[in-house]
Amino acid sequence: MAKVLCVLYDDPVGGYPTTYARDEVPAINSYPGGQSAPTPSTIDFTPGELLGSVSGGLGLRDFLESGGHTFVVTSDKDGADSEFDRELVDADIVISQPFWPAYLTAERIAKAKNLKMAVTAGIGSDHVDLQAAIERGITVTEVTFSNSISVAEHVVMMILALVRNYIPSYGWVVRGGWNIADCAERSYDLEGMKVGTVAAGRIGSAVLRRLKPFDVELHYTDRHRLSAEVEEDLGLTFHETTAEMVPLLDVVTINAPLYPETEGLFDEALLSTMKRGAYIVNTARGKICDRDAIARALESGQLAGYAGDVWFPQPPPADHPWRSMPHHGMTPHISGTSLSAQARYAAGTREILECFFEGRPIRDEYLIVDGGRLAGTGAHSYGEGNATGGSEEAARFKA
Ligand code: NDP
Repeated sequence: MAKVLCVLYDDPVGGYPTTYARDEVPAINSYPGGQSAPTPSTIDFTPGELLGSVSGGLGLRDFLESGGHTFVVTSDKDGADSEFDRELVDADIVISQPFWPAYLTAERIAKAKNLKMAVTAGIGSDHVDLQAAIERGITVTEVTFSNSISVAEHVVMMILALVRNYIPSYGWVVRGGWNIADCAERSYDLEGMKVGTVAAGRIGSAVLRRLKPFDVELHYTDRHRLSAEVEEDLGLTFHETTAEMVPLLDVVTINAPLYPETEGLFDEALLSTMKRGAYIVNTARGKICDRDAIARALESGQLAGYAGDVWFPQPPPADHPWRSMPHHGMTPHISGTSLSAQARYAAGTREILECFFEGRPIRDEYLIVDGGRLAGTGAHSYGEGNATGGSEEAARFKA
């Protein structure tokens, strides 16, 4: 029997919900391109419930405990005295969501003698030291595609929010104002702008598709080029490198995984090649951008706006500059944890656990590391190495 250690974000400050804004979420059975949505044997939750917080337990408690497994759920994840650290020593499986990541550093992996699998309930396993997982033979899995469309919707929302100056304009109304000139002085139309994505995987491609009807000029870069049919259908211009693409763009959206090659990609030097007044929307990972260079670019006017939901570390300390820099549209890491998305990645997590316990193969698309090397989606989209450096700073949020 296994000990499953699950790190989830806290319940709402008002308590775990007893009612919801809507009575149902649409059932999504397959994703663009044909991949089927998760197929666990059954689920013990109602789609649309809050599953990603501690009391929600990803809807796994009955399944795991009735199977004789131990299921420990905590939000206390940072610092050497955290419950996560204490429980990790004899855990067989760790489950964590990128929104509230349990950083599985090499030091923690070394302490977790029984650890066999780290499951990302969602997408993006950069909170695990993949190099250490490779060396220890730990399997790393994620629920590929489960929230890719959720994020794509968020990207489009944030691009429009920045370009049209929505957030400050909303603020004027809330404060009792009617300051049209204050709202309009930074408000533009997206129509006709050049928009490009760094990576055209599941999210990047979905963003491109959603932006096509806005009559913008679409650009992309990726390690693998899309088919000629897709390029023609969407009117895409391909660029070999990010450096070649971004100087041309008015809006950049970042949709690549975080690993050593993409860490710090948007640094002072790259930002300085962009058009003055460009916008960046980054819902991929905070560390792909240099924290201080982004803040400086907003202060100088080199960037007109920056939005996203991903930070480093998570949670960011109260003095993280992205909380206070000008012209930002940052939220906590929420784009992939809508109630709609939660139903899918909770079901996918269960599917992965069922396969693991029954000795059945885990879907190739869910694999990041397996058998001591990058595997499945990990082999296609990630690189080896470690991107967790500096994650101990997350403990400052508690302090
Ligand atoms: P995919 O694996 O479908 O796409 C990732 C794409 O990035 C692939 O096409 C890959 O290329 C490409 N890529 C990798 N390295 C580079 C590089 N150096 N330059 C350009 N392109 C590169 O994943 P998703 O689209 O579903 O998700 C992407 C990322 O978004 C996740 O890794 C995660 O970090 C983040 N995410 C954020 C969420 C949120 O809530 N904010 C939720 C979900 C994901 P190829 O495979 O062709 O080699």
